Amino acid sequence: MTAQRWIAETLFDELGFRMTFAVERVLYELATEHQHLVLFENKLFGKVLMLDGATQVTTRDEFIYHEMMTHVPILAHGRAREVLIVGGGDCGIAEEVLKHKAIERLTQVEIDASVVEFSKEHFPEFTGPVLGDPRFDLVIDDGMNFVERTERRFDVVIVDSTDPQGPGAVLFTYEFYAACRRCMGAGGIMVTQNGVPFFQPDELISSVGHFRKLFADAGCYVAAIPTYVGGHMAMGWAADDPASRALPVAILAERYAAAGKFPTRYWTPEVHRAAFALPRFIAEIVEKARAG
Ligand code: SAM
Repeated sequence: MTAQRWIAETLFDELGFRMTFAVERVLYELATEHQHLVLFENKLFGKVLMLDGATQVTTRDEFIYHEMMTHVPILAHGRAREVLIVGGGDCGIAEEVLKHKAIERLTQVEIDASVVEFSKEHFPEFTGPVLGDPRFDLVIDDGMNFVERTERRFDVVIVDSTDPQGPGAVLFTYEFYAACRRCMGAGGIMVTQNGVPFFQPDELISSVGHFRKLFADAGCYVAAIPTYVGGHMAMGWAADDPASRALPVAILAERYAAAGKFPTRYWTPEVHRAAFALPRFIAEIVEKARAG
């Protein structure tokens, strides 16, 4: 009888906290040139992808993060045609973006080709609809390099990054956000994977502090994602138009209907609106960032 293998998330080691998963089967494990990648099966969460000890996506609860990181900025914008994803290796974000038929081109800039490659085999539910879509353009590059140089202009930028460690660290810098601002059109909206404020308040303070120097509206919205342990997860919000975060539910519902009213399992017009109502401790973190 082989001993049960456990894999720990080590992202919060310095806080003295670990979450561990019982491993039914390791499906893929590789030290790529950029990061350590392990994909395994867990009886509660299904397939679990970890990069450098940080949980990235699980088949059981991926829909929450993927829906909230895409439908919120795209429906808030209202006229998005060009979308950029920085990171996004497993293509879960891309799959949700491409449900919006008005999107004319989706550019995804992923630093590690290995993540996309193995996702073709292990997350076909994401990569299948995406890689066959003529609107999808995959660029293998460091997101920082791309946003500094591209001639393209984007209505929505989605920073679907790892945490601020290893290759992901640069995606939390002022220089990166300024370069994203450079390649966004008028009325643009940028959203970012910005961690769990209960554990990582400084990450949110830093990002929102950068946003407020570059955009008229800087803040975050929240969603509860079981495997991003620690309570609400913050999605950074940087927008040209402050009104875009406060659209009435009726307008959001109209735009969702016009987009084709595709099935969702977490996002609704009401949840979209409510996501910007922050628990007081998170609102205080954001206010601290805004105060500079
Ligand atoms: N949390 C997400 C989810 O639930 O789907 C997953 C995030 S996705 C796996 C993060 C991606 O960012 C990884 O594929 C990683 O290779 C990529 N990445 C990290 N640093 C990057 C950089 N500087 N430029 C582009 N991609 C980067």
